[in-house]
Amino acid sequence: MKNRISRILGNSPDVPVLENDFTLVKINKWLYVGTFLLFFVLSTLAFNMLSSDRHQQEIKNQESLINVTKQAVEQGFYKSATLVFNNIVNRPVYRQALYEANEATPERQHEIRQKIYRSLLPVYESMESFRLKQLHFHLHNNESFLRFHRPLKFGDNLTAIRSTVAYVNRTGQPITGFEEGRIYNGFRFVFPMFWNDKPAGSVETSVAMNTILSEMSKELKQRVGFIILKDVVERKVFKSERSNYIEAPFSKDFLYERNLDTKQCCEYLNRIMSDWGKAAQLKNWLDSEKIKTSFIRANGQDHLLSFLPVKNPISLETVGYIIVHKEHGEHSEIQMQFFGFWAVSVFIALILTFLLYVLKRDEQQLQIKNHLIEAQNELFAKTQEIVHVGTWEFNVKHNRLYWSDEVFRIMGYAPQSFIPTFERFLSCVHPEDRDRVEQAYNKSLENQENYEIEHRVMTTGSNERYVMEECEHVFDGQGEVVRSVGTIHDITALRRNEQNLRRLKDRYKKLLEDLPIVVYRFKLETGYQWSFVNQAIEFYTGYSASQLLNEPTKTLFDFIHPQDQHRVRLELSKHDFSDGPLQLEYRIRHKNGRIFHVIDLIRKVSADDGSWLIEGLMNDQTEHFESLNRLQKLIDSQSNIVIISNAKQIQYANKAYYDFFDIEDHSTEKLQASGCLGKHFMKMSDYFHLGRLQEGENWIEALRKWSPDKRLVAMTNALGHQRTFKVEMSEFDDEFYLISFFDVTDSQLEKQRWQYKASHDPLTGCYNRDFLEMNLSVFMRFVKREKALAGVLLLDIDHFKKVNDSFGHAEGDRVLSEMSNLIYRNIRDSDLFVRWGGEEFILLMAVDSDQSLEKVAKNIGRLVSENIESPSGLISVSIGGSILKDESDLEHAISRADAGLYYVKAHGRNGYLFVPEDV
Ligand code: GH3
Ligand code: MG
Ligand code: MG
Repeated sequence: MKNRISRILGNSPDVPVLENDFTLVKINKWLYVGTFLLFFVLSTLAFNMLSSDRHQQEIKNQESLINVTKQAVEQGFYKSATLVFNNIVNRPVYRQALYEANEATPERQHEIRQKIYRSLLPVYESMESFRLKQLHFHLHNNESFLRFHRPLKFGDNLTAIRSTVAYVNRTGQPITGFEEGRIYNGFRFVFPMFWNDKPAGSVETSVAMNTILSEMSKELKQRVGFIILKDVVERKVFKSERSNYIEAPFSKDFLYERNLDTKQCCEYLNRIMSDWGKAAQLKNWLDSEKIKTSFIRANGQDHLLSFLPVKNPISLETVGYIIVHKEHGEHSEIQMQFFGFWAVSVFIALILTFLLYVLKRDEQQLQIKNHLIEAQNELFAKTQEIVHVGTWEFNVKHNRLYWSDEVFRIMGYAPQSFIPTFERFLSCVHPEDRDRVEQAYNKSLENQENYEIEHRVMTTGSNERYVMEECEHVFDGQGEVVRSVGTIHDITALRRNEQNLRRLKDRYKKLLEDLPIVVYRFKLETGYQWSFVNQAIEFYTGYSASQLLNEPTKTLFDFIHPQDQHRVRLELSKHDFSDGPLQLEYRIRHKNGRIFHVIDLIRKVSADDGSWLIEGLMNDQTEHFESLNRLQKLIDSQSNIVIISNAKQIQYANKAYYDFFDIEDHSTEKLQASGCLGKHFMKMSDYFHLGRLQEGENWIEALRKWSPDKRLVAMTNALGHQRTFKVEMSEFDDEFYLISFFDVTDSQLEKQRWQYKASHDPLTGCYNRDFLEMNLSVFMRFVKREKALAGVLLLDIDHFKKVNDSFGHAEGDRVLSEMSNLIYRNIRDSDLFVRWGGEEFILLMAVDSDQSLEKVAKNIGRLVSENIESPSGLISVSIGGSILKDESDLEHAISRADAGLYYVKAHGRNGYLFVPEDV
């Protein structure tokens, strides 16, 4: 089944298993998520790189712009300074004057100074227009000779302070560059002066740093500031002049000039840099070699900040930085643009990926659906094949008919082997049904009704098939039929089964009818009215089955013998049918008066409508009962008691049994209630009785172990007479035995009498010699068991002859009888008292010693001498004693005792002597 279904569902390589398809969808989903994430990461990296490149480019542009601007500004001022120096200052008059001043006295120097000052003051004042700041003459030894900006301050040596001045005086070469001075810092232009090729000293003019900065600011259209290293100022500037500098609030390592021109700019930079994270570590952050440019974020805005190192032209050490700053709204904008562009790309990628995923998923789901549909179609076709139901559809307008595979199969063709038509369909219908089918279809169209019809079809092999067709129509708005759809169900197997069943039913019905047994059924509620009875009933009642069924005047009970009716009703009502059927024996009375004994096997079954039915199988047992009756009579005629018993209860007993115990009630119940017969067996030594049973044994089993001739029991009859029975038994059935008790009381008594005679002395009743010899071995086993000695006493009456002689033989007999009775009464059951001959007796007894034997002997002697008398007086006995070793020793033991007796006789009689073995 499982294989078939999996085959239908397409568990094959070309039709993927559904479960796998769902897994595929899951894997694809993650593939798409992965692809998107990869795109996300790559695009983020790419955008970052682009953005960073753009920044680098911008920084580069900014830096080269600053460098070029600075150079251009410096160059401009250098040109002005060169112009002033070459055309005005470096004239012979000044060269000579300065030369002379080197060696001149202070007074002469004063004169020269005055002369130069007066002569060049107009030039110095006009230099303002070139924004050149000072005109400063130095002697060759680097001593300040004339400061136009502080004419009274001279004579100080600048060697340690002004390296540019020292350089020019030492090398005779001009130099330009920034240098901090005693008072001002500035961009210095120092030129050497010669008189007749001899060094005369140097002259310097300069541009204030502020001027350079404002020029640059103008050119760059950006804020430009300047910070100088604090230690440079502290090393060079006059203390009095240091108030020109203010410590940069953002870093203690830098100062900036207190200068009106740049103040505003510096304050602004202050604010930015104070808010900027790196300002405190500015000195460490800056690379003194090269310009450093960076985008910074401060005060809620983006800034592009450049630090251009300013170096001492001699030592080349960085002494300060020109700060170029512009607010860079663009930076954020560009960032935003980049971000926006990136975000849009990511979003588009996300959408595309999702769309791709959805499309792919839909495609896969479609695939799965197609698989499902295929599988369902296959399943549908397979189901049709299994249940033999085909479907068809007839497009009436286009006269096109569609048959499912199963319809072809039902019609006896290979699936889809031709294009079916309505005519072709009709030709498949059995000729006898064809008109009916066509009419049914047409009529249903006319009436606009659905229909169903059963008919036969002729398959290709001319085999008949039974089909059930159902059809529904689809109509258009005008009530015209558009198409008809229907099912065709192959019910051949069903019909064939029905036919077979009907045939079987008929066959069984016939069988039932012909059965010699009465089979009947009646409903309990209808008071035993027949609902079915077969023909056999006529034999028992004289009424035919149809009479009884059609004229329900006589019920089953009307035929049951009146004496049995009550019992039958009772049994029927109290029997629990769930335990099995009820077997009843009763008599049926034929209408001609004949009586039948029947056994009826009755069961109770529920009918389809829920009511209870009684079903019976009644069988004639008349012959059986009659033969049983005959047998019973035979057994009853026997004088011996016959019973059937299983040792616990008696199932059957014959008349002799009832007579013996004088029982009037012969009913089975009473008999069974009487229990076990064994309890009547009397407890007698030679007979079997219940006291002889071993544990777990019943009396029948036990008695069967006895040899047949010894199976004797004694019972007392109702009159109190004890009777002896010989028992014979044979197996009756599995459990019960047929047991006969033969009365052998008389023969048994005769037997006992003979036995007594053979073993007893008739005068005294003592055992005789034969008995002693026969039972000696039994006695010796007893002695041995008792671990005792076998004592032998030999008795002889003293002077007995005299009794005979004096009073006659009869008197002698009387004495003998009396004495032996006395002794018999006074010995133990186990002792053997034997008349050995004449008036001699032997007493054999178990004793523990010869002393005990002596005691017994003397006791007997005394008993006799005290109690037994003859007319002449009391009788005495002489006794000899010995111990009997074993059976073979009897003769010797008696002779030993006899020796003792002889001795006693010889020594006055009425005495006892024990003779041991070794004497
Ligand atoms: P002793 O004291 O020496 O034994 O003397 P005794 O007279 O008893 O002599 P003994 O034993 O020889 O005699 C036995 C006699 O007993 C002989 C016989 O007449 C008598 N007798 C034997 N059997 C019977 C019997 O059955 N009935 C009677 N009445 N007498 C018997
Ligand atoms: Mg004697
Ligand atoms: Mg004697």
